[in-house]
Formats: sequence, C-alpha cells, structure tokens
Amino acid sequence: MATRSGRRPRTRGMVLDRIRAARTISRIELAASSGVTPATITQVVRELMAHELVVEVGRGASTGGKPRTMLQLNPRARYAVGVLFERNTCVVVIVDLTGRQVARTSFPGTTLLPPEEALAQVAARVEALLGTAGVERDRVLGVGLVTYGPQDRRAGVLLTHQPTGAWFGYPVAPRLSELLDLPVLLDNDAAAAAIGEHWLGAARSDTFGCIYMASGIGGGVVLDGQVYRGSSSNGVEIGHITVDLDGGPCDCGNHGCLANYADPTAVIRQAVATPSLGRRLELDPDDPDVMTGFGRIAAAAGAGDPAARALIERSARLLGTAAVTLASLFDLDLIVLAGPSLTVAGPIYRPVVEEEVRRRTFARRAHPVRVITSVSGSDAAAIGGAVLVLQSELAVLELDAPARA
Ligand SMILES: [Zn+2]
Repeated sequence: MATRSGRRPRTRGMVLDRIRAARTISRIELAASSGVTPATITQVVRELMAHELVVEVGRGASTGGKPRTMLQLNPRARYAVGVLFERNTCVVVIVDLTGRQVARTSFPGTTLLPPEEALAQVAARVEALLGTAGVERDRVLGVGLVTYGPQDRRAGVLLTHQPTGAWFGYPVAPRLSELLDLPVLLDNDAAAAAIGEHWLGAARSDTFGCIYMASGIGGGVVLDGQVYRGSSSNGVEIGHITVDLDGGPCDCGNHGCLANYADPTAVIRQAVATPSLGRRLELDPDDPDVMTGFGRIAAAAGAGDPAARALIERSARLLGTAAVTLASLFDLDLIVLAGPSLTVAGPIYRPVVEEEVRRRTFARRAHPVRVITSVSGSDAAAIGGAVLVLQSELAVLELDAPARA
C-alpha cells in the first residue's frame, strides 16, 4: 500500500526525533510539544506505524480524562551505521532506530593507504560487523562517514591534502556508497562528536560547545539540540583561529593557527625539540602514528615528568583560549572536551581549560562555564555519525515506497 506521506517528510522526521528523545510519548503530547495539529500527528503516526517504525505500548497515566495510548520507536525496525575515519584510528558502530549502540569495532587508521584501498577496508569492516550483529541489510538506513575537513558535505568529497594528496577531491562518500550499496553521508568529525556527546548524555544540555582533539583540533556547537552547520558545515574550526599574528603558514591557508602550537603533532614536535625528553620517550616526529607518541608524552606528564608536563600544560592553555573563544562567541555555559587525545590526557587538560574559561570568558559575571571531559573517546564521533543518519531524511524517505510485508 503506497502512502500519501510524501508531502510531509519533515513532519515525519520531526515526529520520529521527538519520540526518540522522549522514549515514550502520547499523540497529545507530541502535538502539544511540536505545535503540529493533533489531526496531522494522528495521520503521521498512522503512517509510521504502518511501516512498523512506531509501536503503541500501553496506556499512560490518566490525568483525569481518558488514559492516553503511549508511542515508542520500534528499535529493530531500522539501523544506522557510523564510521569515524581518522588518520590513526577507525571506529565503526551500528545503532538501532532509538540510537542505542548494538555493535562496535575499531581498527588502525587507513588514511595513509591509497583511498581506493582504504575505503575497501572500511567497507569490509562494515559488512563484517553487520554480519556478526545479525542486522539485515534492508533495514540499514545508511552510513554516516565522519572525518576531518574541510569537506564538501553535499558532494561527499574531502577538500584537504591531509594526510596525503591522493585524498584531495576524492569522492569518499560516493565511493563507499558504491562499495556497500548503501547511502553514505559525509560529515565533520567534531560536529558528529558534539551530536554524539549530546546523544550519549554526557552533555546534559541542549546548548553546549565541544572541543574535539584527535590528531588535529576541531570544534562543534549544539544549539537547542541541533548541531550548528554554518553555510557549508565547515564551521567552528576552533583549531584554525590565529594565536600568533607572525606565526608560520598552516595547511589550512591561514597562519599562526592555534592547532600548530597545541595539537598532538605540535606537542610531539616540541617534545622532540627538548632532546632529553624526545630521547627518553623514543619519539619520532615523522611517525604517522601521532596518537601513540602523544599518549607517551601525556603519560609522562601524568607521572610527574616536569618537561612533559610543561608541554601538555602549554597545549592545555591554548585549548583554554579556544574554549574561551567558543564560550564568548556562543554564550555557552558548558564545554565538552572530546576525542581520543582528550580522553587520554583529559585529567591534565580539563582543570587548565576550566581555569582559563573562569578567568577570561566575556559572560563570566553572568554565569559560570562548566568544562567536562567526555568518557567516550572516539566513540562519540562514530555514534554521532550514525545518529545524523537517523535524523536525516533517509529515515523517512523510504516511507513513500510500498510498506514492508
Ligand atoms: Zn590553520
């Protein structure tokens, strides 16, 4: 039976999102919280139920009138895949329609391989995970591929020569889509991490900033529960604000960028320039495995090595500058430090960043700004990628196709 639902894809997506956020909700509450008429809600819910995306789950408490039938998502009706694709690591997660993680795997980064080879490896890992999780292919909405930028999100193309020139302009999303025969959405890792943090409940707020550090530094801002997109989803690049007017050129085209003084690559470079420290920690500035080198410096700093500690604290103060800038631009009261590097070294970074924010944020006399460390490491970005698929039109587009038998 074909439905007439094609006229209302936005309303359908919004209704799915609201049920997902509420877990259980009545039609009346959906109408009241969304401003959509009860008649339209009834019609949209009927369509969603016909496709088994939404189920009725008994009665809610009566408030004097007749008891309300409560609605829930059917978790196993659809799934989404999230892939975090970083230089040093890849994480693949599968989430169900409610956004709950049902399977996960990770493997070493593949971006130093030629793109064709790297994407074939990613596709094989996704296929294998779907197989072991027992997820039927026709229930998978698509893949959220999240990685560094700049990127042309609509075309699914990276616009950076990092880490090798072969990736510039390479159609990563269309190619992965061909390999998997699934829709693939490309997105920014830091934006996805912000959504993932929101989803995982680490950030118990609808408006907050996220500073994301893997091998580079990125940022994301969630405003009223939605990730801030700017004009091309290349925003909140907080690692590429100038902190030294006379600083050297950055790959991004700017100069004196914060990332060049504070990210893990920069910290390794500074440690190698301190010969006793570089030798002691056996650091190689040319080793593409940035995370291992940075992890060694962070561990030494944590163990009380003064030279290592000074370098990490310097990086943390610069990250504090990024946090002050974010908080002052968006009037935030919460900053989440996320990403694998900040998971490793969060105990040193967090108090330093918090102190900078406490002293320097524009609105500090109006309200405090909390700084918290994510506990999810790389996973928030991968889960955010999958959640962005759930929130996309993919979740409702197929409703215009005949209902499943
Ligand atoms: Zn830059």
